[in-house]
Amino acid sequence: DPRANCPADVEQLGRATWTFLHTTAAYYPERPSPAQRTHMLGLLNSLPVLYPCSHCASHLGECMKANPPDVTGRGSLSRWLCERHNEVNEMLGKEKFDCAKTDERWKDGPADGSCD
Ligand code: FAD
Repeated sequence: DPRANCPADVEQLGRATWTFLHTTAAYYPERPSPAQRTHMLGLLNSLPVLYPCSHCASHLGECMKANPPDVTGRGSLSRWLCERHNEVNEMLGKEKFDCAKTDERWKDGPADGSCD
């Protein structure tokens, strides 16, 4: 790919960021400590301020105002993030993702072992 070393565009940045966020949520503790909750809230609340796509950042900020992050555990955080990603998918006319498949996609891989 001749553009492999080019600066990230909105799509590449988005894929990389969703990979980071969903994977981080997938490995977030079931019972996070108060410090872990505080850090996760800080990470998520930073995105509307710092995400380097300004219209993406302000849209996310609006979504987060309507639906504040749930950092009480990995299951609820993964679902929260899936729902926010689906809001972006919907806005962009992309297919909605089945949030029941979040762990399969980001943590366990499919049951047929094709990702092992
Ligand atoms: P992506 O949407 O990047 O998804 C990557 C993979 O995640 C998919 O292949 C699928 O396997 C999985 N997936 C899809 N949906 C879900 C879900 N709901 N839960 C779990 N896993 C899922 N782009 C814009 O043009 N305008 C914007 O305003 C905008 N806002 C963004 C805001 C944020 C916070 C982020 C991180 C990205 C934003 N983007 C925006 C980028 C956009 O979301 C996509 O990343 C980009 O269009 C590339 O899309 P894609 O089809 O490759 O898959």
